[in-house]
Amino acid sequence: MKIEDYIRTIPDFPEPGIMFRDVTTLFNDPRGFRMAIDMLLHPFAGERIDRVAGIEARGFILGGAIAHQLSVGFVPIRKKGKLPWKTIEQDYTLEYGTATVEVHEDAFVKGERVLIVDDLIATGGTAEAGIKLVRQLGGTIAGCAFIVDLPDLGGRKRLEELDAPVHALCSFGGH
Ligand code: AMP
Repeated sequence: MKIEDYIRTIPDFPEPGIMFRDVTTLFNDPRGFRMAIDMLLHPFAGERIDRVAGIEARGFILGGAIAHQLSVGFVPIRKKGKLPWKTIEQDYTLEYGTATVEVHEDAFVKGERVLIVDDLIATGGTAEAGIKLVRQLGGTIAGCAFIVDLPDLGGRKRLEELDAPVHALCSFGGH
């Protein structure tokens, strides 16, 4: 089975016209989940990664497993208002309106190499906000790893223009 075979597609969720790529079926399968973690890490074998940053919420599940595999620390990048300590924040644009993500201000050590993880890249707005937070705290982006890329939405290009290497395991056309 290929990675995309483990992903369930739900048309018109959460709104008409969106094909929701549901990775819970991948997480639910022992071989699928293990394969995803191994494949996400493959291009970074032998490279220095000091910390993993996962984007809420599915990025926590993947990022936690990856950080454990690498024996490095994990940092949650969360929606505004959830983190208990002092934070820095970054706004980003959604299809309708804006959203804000936050990270603890002492989450990274200056100069360390950070791997950002999420389940899916669409427009790249969420990941771009994560990149800005890491860089603001002195981290370097080792890479951004996703299970799914939606290339028609241009996220990969957007991140590569920010000098952030993008690694995705599979891609789907459309939204
Ligand atoms: P973006 O900021 O546009 O790259 O959107 C990425 C975020 O939205 C990720 O955290 C995804 O989990 C979620 N997302 C966007 N589009 C989809 C989709 N078609 N299916 C599942 N999740 C999506």
